[in-house]
Amino acid sequence: MYVARTRGFCGGVRRALDMVNACLTRYGPPVYVLHPIVHNRFVVEDFQSRGVVFIERVAEAAPGRPLILSAHGVSKAVEEEASRLGASAVIDATCPLVKQVHRQVRDHWREGEAVILMGHRDHPEIQGTIGQVKSEDSYVVECPADIAALPGSLAQKPIVCVAQTTLTQAKVDDMFTGIRARFPKADVTLGKTVCYASTNRQQAVMELAEMTDMILVVGSKNSSNANRLRETAEAAGVPAYLIDSAGELSPEWLNDVESVGVTAGASTPEYVVERLLTVLKSRGWDSVEEVGAVEKS
Ligand code: SF4
Repeated sequence: MYVARTRGFCGGVRRALDMVNACLTRYGPPVYVLHPIVHNRFVVEDFQSRGVVFIERVAEAAPGRPLILSAHGVSKAVEEEASRLGASAVIDATCPLVKQVHRQVRDHWREGEAVILMGHRDHPEIQGTIGQVKSEDSYVVECPADIAALPGSLAQKPIVCVAQTTLTQAKVDDMFTGIRARFPKADVTLGKTVCYASTNRQQAVMELAEMTDMILVVGSKNSSNANRLRETAEAAGVPAYLIDSAGELSPEWLNDVESVGVTAGASTPEYVVERLLTVLKSRGWDSVEEVGAVEKS
C-alpha cells in the first residue's frame, strides 16, 4: 500500500482550527462559527461536542458571545453584519491565501475592471470572494455554458480572471482558455490562485496513480479539494473513491486490486487516515510506503 506523504491538514486549516480552540479556551462555550469551520465531518462533530455552534447566518449567533468566520472567507456584507451583531469578539479564520484573492478582486474591480471568478457558485469561498465587490461587472463561471452566457458587452472592458483556491490548475487553465477565446483581452495572469496545498496534494495523487490500481481519498463529500483529488486520480486513469472514513470502504472495491493508494484532503484529520490504514492492514495490505515530497508551505 502506498500513502501520499503530502496529505491532510494544510496551513490554512491548522490556523483556523487553532483559532477555534483558542477561542474556546478564552471564552468557554458556546462559541459560534459561521459555516463549517472547514469541510470535514469529524472536525465539525468534535467541535460541536465541545460547545461550538455552527450557524449558516450571522443572525443565528447570540449577541455577547464570540463569532468566528470560517476558513473559506465571507463577503463584505457578511463581515459588516458580523461587526454589528454585538458579539464579544469577531474572529476571522479566513485562510490568508483566500484573503489575498479577496484583495486582488477588490483592487482590480475598483480600477474599473470586470471580474470573472471561476469556481462552484454555491461554495462559501466563492460567495465570499465574489461578495468582495458589487454584483455589477462581477461574474462567477463554473462551466463552458457559463462563459457562453457572459454578456457580449464585456468585450469593451478590461477583465481580470481569478479562480477558487481548491480547483485543479488544469481545469482552471482550460476555462481561462475558453474565456480568452471570447474575450481576447481578458487578463488571466492572476489566474494562478489555486493554492499550494491543493496543487501539492494533486501532485502527490498523480505520483500515487503511477504505482497503484486504486486510490482512496479520505475526506468529506462537501470538501472541494478532496473531490478534486478523486478527480485527479480518475483523470490519471486510476479508479478512486472519496470516503469520509474507513466505515465507508466497500469490500468489492478491493477485488483484484494489488496495490492501493491512500491520500487525504486538506481538512481531514490524520487520525481518520490512520484508522483506514489499520483496516487496510487487517485486510492484507500490511506494508506501507510513503511516496512524494514533504510539503513546504
Ligand atoms: Fe488555504 Fe489552500 Fe488550505 Fe484552503 S486548501 S485553507 S486555500 S491553504
